[in-house]
Amino acid sequence: MLRKSLLLACLFFYLFAASLSAQLPPVKNPLAPAQNPRSAGCSTTDASSCAQAAAKLLPIVMGPSPMEENLRRLTDEIGGRVTGSPEMAKAVEWAVAAFRAANVDVHTEKYTLPTTWGEGDTKLLVSDPSELSSPPKTDAGIRLVSLRAVSTGWGPPLTRENAVQIVDVGYGGADDFERAGPIKDKILLVHSEVGSTWADLFNEYLRPPDIIRRAVEGGARAILWMGARERLLPYRHTNSLTGAIDKIPQAVVAREDAMRLARSVAAYPNKVLVMLQMPNKIGGPVEQQNVVGEIRGYEKPDEVVILGAHLDSWELGTGALDNGCNAALVVETARAIKATGLLPRRTIRFVLFSGEEQGAIGSYEYVKAHRAELNKVRAVIVFDSGIGRVTGYSLGGRRDTEAGVREVLKPLESWGANNHTHDASFGTDNLDFLLEGVPTLVANQEEANYLPNYHAASDTLDKVDMRELKLHTVLAALTAWGIADRTEPVGKRLTRAEIEAQMKETGLDQQLKALGYWDAWQSGTRGRKP
Ligand SMILES: [Zn+2]
Repeated sequence: MLRKSLLLACLFFYLFAASLSAQLPPVKNPLAPAQNPRSAGCSTTDASSCAQAAAKLLPIVMGPSPMEENLRRLTDEIGGRVTGSPEMAKAVEWAVAAFRAANVDVHTEKYTLPTTWGEGDTKLLVSDPSELSSPPKTDAGIRLVSLRAVSTGWGPPLTRENAVQIVDVGYGGADDFERAGPIKDKILLVHSEVGSTWADLFNEYLRPPDIIRRAVEGGARAILWMGARERLLPYRHTNSLTGAIDKIPQAVVAREDAMRLARSVAAYPNKVLVMLQMPNKIGGPVEQQNVVGEIRGYEKPDEVVILGAHLDSWELGTGALDNGCNAALVVETARAIKATGLLPRRTIRFVLFSGEEQGAIGSYEYVKAHRAELNKVRAVIVFDSGIGRVTGYSLGGRRDTEAGVREVLKPLESWGANNHTHDASFGTDNLDFLLEGVPTLVANQEEANYLPNYHAASDTLDKVDMRELKLHTVLAALTAWGIADRTEPVGKRLTRAEIEAQMKETGLDQQLKALGYWDAWQSGTRGRKP
């Protein structure tokens, strides 16, 4: 990835966009149909259609648009929208209305979410540190004080609990558990580092499964995770990535509270008691929906390019960076392409998935429902990393699709967003398409302010840089348009053997094993069938 100062990058974008706008003929009425809606292709042999599309898209997106107001409604008015909640249903209505207002055909597609989940009144009480040096003679006399903690998402409830001993298991490695001794009926404290990179974030998901397994095997009652965000910031982590209720109750403890607790435990081993109550509300199954906007292709309407983002979010904040801004981007991309009056050769679908935060459930269900047509899904483009500058796309382990993607983005070459990577990873809605051999593109973005606000109470609209979001919308629109309009597909659908080879090359197989997805791949329930 290119690394530049964000400030410089923004300035550069601004100057470039301004100068490019200045060179463009004025767009009198962007909603009026173009004289010739059929374009001439978007490839090395004929690059004119991408350049033409870019020139039309830029003023439509960068000028006055409904995007900011759309995003304000989604975040400030609907707010956090956990899949299965009433807010999620409102978000689906928001999306349908926004596509309609953009004059784009839209429908919803239903699937069943097996389990709903909501946090109750979580309480974490620990021995008063002022009493630890001379504890009362009886348990009944022990005073407890409150710490700030939230349940992990889709964690099981824990009610009517007594105070029990806490055991510090360090970073939760096999050695750490060995040193900690018996953990039966105890509550565990696991340490963490503050995350500042994408790699740190992946580790927040890859590290817990082994720790949870050890905790369950040892008969521990619950796990307390030290928060990985500073300044007592509550955030919702989940270690259940299949939509099922997790194996053991877990809470994330505000970082500074957890560090103080760890120091008490170190000073008074086997003396500190904790009482954890998490009356989480479990329900379901319920019907949920993905929202699908569509602009039909004029030549190959049954061939499809998908631009997607997840519409759901966690609910401590309002899901602005994750992923409201990119849900608004998808709607705005549809509006802008429609407003150019140009028609693409292939169909473009704009899909807002739900259930992403529970393990990409909505996109998995979409893939299952559309399995018969996956041979004709030419690419899936996903935006899910907040507002940091786009440097290019992660191509899901593929090299064959790079040349086509580069051609498509050529008109915006100087934006620095045409540098693609060949890695593949879990973590957003492209996964099940990738496992089916469909070419996938996930926007590679700089971290910017994503990680300090990740799934946190602070993920609110004020974190979204609207100018940057508009620039990303132009990129998304040109990418979707260009791949849909190329004479040749950007890449073929891989066979199962090719997908497996690509997973080994990128290490995606190891990630899937760590996260518990591998059996589903091997048995053929998830991914291209054997
Ligand atoms: Zn997300």
